[in-house]
This record gives sequence, structure tokens and C-alpha cells, in this order.
Amino acid sequence: MRIVIATRNSRKAAEMRRVLERILGERFQLPDLSDYPQFPEPEESADTYAENAAIKARAACEALSVACISDDAGLEVDALGGAPGVKSKRFGGEDLPFSDKMRLILERMNGMPAAERGARFRCAVAFSEPNSETRVFESTCEGQIAAKPRGSGGFGYDPIFLIPEKGKTFAEMSPEEKDSVSHRGKVLADFAEWLRSRYTAELPHL
Ligand code: IMP
Repeated sequence: MRIVIATRNSRKAAEMRRVLERILGERFQLPDLSDYPQFPEPEESADTYAENAAIKARAACEALSVACISDDAGLEVDALGGAPGVKSKRFGGEDLPFSDKMRLILERMNGMPAAERGARFRCAVAFSEPNSETRVFESTCEGQIAAKPRGSGGFGYDPIFLIPEKGKTFAEMSPEEKDSVSHRGKVLADFAEWLRSRYTAELPHL
């Protein structure tokens, strides 16, 4: 079976593919939108992660007539009243590089003690199949905003998102270590378990 990962963010697609393959094995083909250059990604126009994820999965499913999975995530910083939140991608301007987006956050939190640096990633994953209702799964990952960017792995805000129990930012973790604690790793694990139990019931040979 084929499930299209409905994103053009190659690092996010790689992260999603890695988690799904670890849980589901190789029984699903998991192309992403780089294999479908003709499909324009829709606007993320909703106010919630769940609805944005559903918009993206549904639009791709309708256009491509194949099962599609999409995620929508955001970073919520307590000291900034939950910003950048659902607008994380557009924070400071859509074209502003992530190094500058992170600098904007760090400048606003300059000198704040660890106790006031709480933050979390939220993530919603939507799965849409032709002629079926879209399903949404959600998860969060609690952490803190580091004093400065650290590490070179991952993508987006990873260098400033610190997991205090591990003493590492997401960007300092191996891909597998990030997957084991991250918002995306957890929500995709839930989705993959749901998918596996459904297909094992329907198609036991898979
Ligand atoms: P979207 O889900 O692609 O709309 O992501 C919202 C924004 O949050 C994007 O700018 C992403 O780069 C960022 N983001 C989403 N997930 C992660 C993550 O796991 N680590 C760091 N940044 C992320």
C-alpha cells in the first residue's frame, strides 16, 4: 500500500518516513510531495494544528486519489504567551531564516531563568483516505528554550529546544533519540499502531 507524506519539507518527510518505517517495516511505500511536483500545497489557514493537518492531508488525498498523511506542528513558548504556536512557520515572516527566527525568540527571553523558559512542541497528524473520514492524532513534547542555539541536527527550531532530562537540544540528539521523545515521534507511533492493528485485522498477511 502507498501512503503519500503530504509535505515538501524534505527533513520533515525524512523524519516521518523514518518513524513509520521503524514501526511498520517496509510494507508501505511512503513517497512525499517531491514525487508529485504538480500538486500545490494548500494554505495553512486554520487556527489549530489538527485542522491545518487535516486541510493538508485532505487536499493531497483529493488531488492524488491516494491515502495521504500530513502533520502540522508548532513551538509554544510560555514566556511569549504561547507564541509562535500555530504560526511557527511564519514567525517573523515566512522567508525569515530559522537562525533569525530563533534569535528573535532568544532576544525576547534574554536573561530569563530556567524556571521561566518552559516551552513545548505540539503536533497533529492527519490521515486521509479516498471516501473515508479524515483521522487526526495529537501529541506534545515538553521542554525549555535553551540560552543559545546548540547542535546541528534536525530542522526548524531544534537547536533551541532543550529536553532538560537529557541535557540536550533536539539538534544535539541522534535522529532515533529525537524520535523517542519528540512530539512527532510520539504521534506517529500512535498513528502507526492504529494503522497496523487495522490492517492486521483486515489483511493478516501484511
Ligand atoms: P509546519 O507543521 O510545517 O507548519 O511547522 C511549523 C513550524 O514549526 C515550521 O517552521 C517547522 O520548521 C517548525 N517545526 C515543526 N516541527 C518541528 C520540529 O520537530 N523541530 C523544530 N521545528 C519544528
